Formats: sequence, structure tokens, C-alpha cells
Amino acid sequence: MNYKKKTIRDVDLKGKKVLMRCDFNVPTNDEGVITDDSRIRKTLPTIQAVLDQGAAVILCSHKGRPKNGYEEKFSLKVVQARLQELLGVPVDLASDIIGPEAQEKAKALQPGQVLLLENVRFLKGETKNDMDIARAYADLAEVFVNDAFGSCHRAHSSTVGVASYLPAYSGLLVKKELDVMGKALSDPNRPLVLIMGGSKVSDKIGVIDHMLTLADDIIIGGGMSYTFTAAKGGKIGTSLCENESFEYCRELLKKAEEKGVRIHLPVDAVCGDHFAADAEPVVYADGEIPDNMMGMDIGPKTAEAYAEVIRNAGTVIWNGPMGVFEFPAFAEGTKAVAKAMAESEAVTIIGGGDSAAAVEQFGYADKMTHVSTGGGASLEFFAGEELPGVAALLDA
Ligand code: ADP
Ligand code: MG
Repeated sequence: MNYKKKTIRDVDLKGKKVLMRCDFNVPTNDEGVITDDSRIRKTLPTIQAVLDQGAAVILCSHKGRPKNGYEEKFSLKVVQARLQELLGVPVDLASDIIGPEAQEKAKALQPGQVLLLENVRFLKGETKNDMDIARAYADLAEVFVNDAFGSCHRAHSSTVGVASYLPAYSGLLVKKELDVMGKALSDPNRPLVLIMGGSKVSDKIGVIDHMLTLADDIIIGGGMSYTFTAAKGGKIGTSLCENESFEYCRELLKKAEEKGVRIHLPVDAVCGDHFAADAEPVVYADGEIPDNMMGMDIGPKTAEAYAEVIRNAGTVIWNGPMGVFEFPAFAEGTKAVAKAMAESEAVTIIGGGDSAAAVEQFGYADKMTHVSTGGGASLEFFAGEELPGVAALLDA
């Protein structure tokens, strides 16, 4: 995939109307209050830079997965209010997205002013990349900017279609994502270490296969590791296991050996007798988990071994927690890996929604080179797939 794209720095936006696709898909609680505004904050530098160039800005985003048009809980009104505070300028909202109100407001918009369109997914055809909708977005502006990395793996009207009708540039956040992760794949500081975890092997096959051609070391942890243990004939009790992936695991170990990629598997596991926060944590050697116990974290010996690999790395890409980090008694392995990455001199990249949440929760996010804003998008990136939202942007 070509990830060298033209950015807002490569175009004169003075006096132009700029339609910008953002990721304002922020979490809100039952009262509709935003519980984490970091997605809004991360795109502020792009919005500010476009405004500073003397452009008028029309922002758009999805929020959640509305299925039947307008629904209050998916409205961007809360985003409008938060944006206003953060930008320090009024932000107008066009409730009909591409209707007469939006057209009028966009037409009247002056340099330095900001208009926000309502949730693009209130439009039925948006997620089908409907080209009439794309055309209507394009009619509101003269230039398109994409700063929604988390939506770049989706071919929708507001990420791909619209780029057929307007010159399309990357925002600063998308540029950073592509620069850091692109270099990690194409020209990494070595050794390049991939850490894979999370619940299922089958979720991550694309990434593992692709990284097998690039990485020096692959560390396996989390729920997926028990499938490897079982595939090798070890006892895993009631741990997560995908029997249908046994063949894949064995093949992978063989291929890695042929390619000279070092695969690191757990040597011990922290187990509990039921899946809950109050389960008593007990450590067993890998492959020796009793029938009634479930592996919920990597053990202390494994954590130390993994930390050592991380200390010697040039680049570390991490996707998927080492255990059920949501339960404090089973969070130590994930924490140890996060800490080793935070302390390492290596280029450190976190991809994956839950891994990013874990790093955030442990307070290490600032110590990483890059925490990707795109869970699914970063996975597809590391699987070597072309992201349609990126492909649609002008090449540098
Ligand atoms: P990411 O979002 O970073 O890609 P995943 O979605 O693949 O990560 O996996 C995250 C989930 O995996 C977490 O909710 C975590 O609790 C779960 N998990 C990790 N290890 C285990 C385990 N041993 N048993 C059950 N669930 C696990
Ligand atoms: Mg996840």
C-alpha cells in the first residue's frame, strides 16, 4: 500500500471551503455525557491548521451505528458543544447533514468559521458508499480532508466516495498514523517485535501471516496463546481454545522456523477457577493447567521473558492484551508488557482498541511512540491490506 499521501501542508487552503472527515465517535454514558474526548482532541491540530490557513471548515463524522435514521443518542450535538469549548470558536450544527439547511449554512460559511454536519450514518446509503450522497457532500465544499484514521478501512460515502469529486488530502493525524506505522513495516528499526494477544487467534490471522514476512520476533500472549499450547498437546483446562485453528498454529510455528522468525510462547499462566474479577489467581506452568482452571493472564516468568525481548527491540508493535486486564488480579502480564514498552528505547506502537485502552488505563500512553486511533484500521494496516480511505487520497 502506498501510504505517502498529500497532506493539508501541500495545498493552499486560503479562502477555500474544506470538508473534513473526522473521527468524533466518542463514547458517551447513559446521560449522553462524553466520557472520553480524546478522539476530538487528537484531530484538533488538523482543524486548527486548516483554519489558520484561512479556510472555512465543514466537519463530518459518524458516531455509533444508527440503523434507522436520526436517533438522539447518536447525535453529534454533544460533540458540537465539546468542540466549541476546545476550539474556542462557535461551531454551528447542520442537522440535515446534506439537506437544504446544510447547503445554506455551508454556502454562507466564512473563512475561520466552523460548521459541523450531523452524524453521517443517519443517511441510509453512507455505509454503502452511495455516490449520490458522496456528490452531495462534495457540493458543500471545494477540498476534502480525511483525518479519521479509524474509519479508513471502510469504503463509505464520507471516506471514499467523496474523494471522487474533490481533491482529497490527509489530515495531520492520518499523516502521523501512516508515517509511524508505515515506517514500522517498510523500514523498521530492528529487531522488529510483534506482540499479539487478545482473545482469538482467528481474529488476528491476517496480521500474523503478514508480519511473519517482516518481523524478527513474534510474541504470543492472551487468550489466543492457549490454542497454541493445546495444538502442541498441552493441557489448558477451561481456557479459551479454538480447535479449528490447531492446524494453523502448527503451520505457523513451522513457517516461522523456516523463515528464522523467533516465536515466543508463554511458559506459565495465571489461572482462575471461574471467569470473574474475584477468582483466586493461581500460577501453573504452561501446558499443565488443571481441568477446572482457566488461563486468564501470562505468568510472571513469561512476563519477564517478554519484557527482555522488548528491552532489546528496535521496534515494537503491540496488538491485543496479554490477559483479562479488565480484572485487576489478571492484569499484571499486560501491565508488565506495557511498562517494558514504556521504558524501552524502541519505536513503540499500539494498535487495537483494547490494547490502547489498557495502555491508557495503566498511564503509559504518553510514553509510547504512537497509540493508533484506529482499532480495526490498524489491524488491517498490519495485515498488509490497502485501506480504501487512504487509497482514495492524492499520492504525494
Ligand atoms: P484489541 O482490541 O487490542 O485488538 P482484542 O479485542 O483482540 O484486543 O482482545 C481483547 C480482549 O481479550 C480483552 O477484553 C481481554 O479481556 C480478552 N482476553 C485476553 N486474554 C484473555 C484470556 N486469557 N481469556 C479470556 N479473554 C482474554
Ligand atoms: Mg478489541
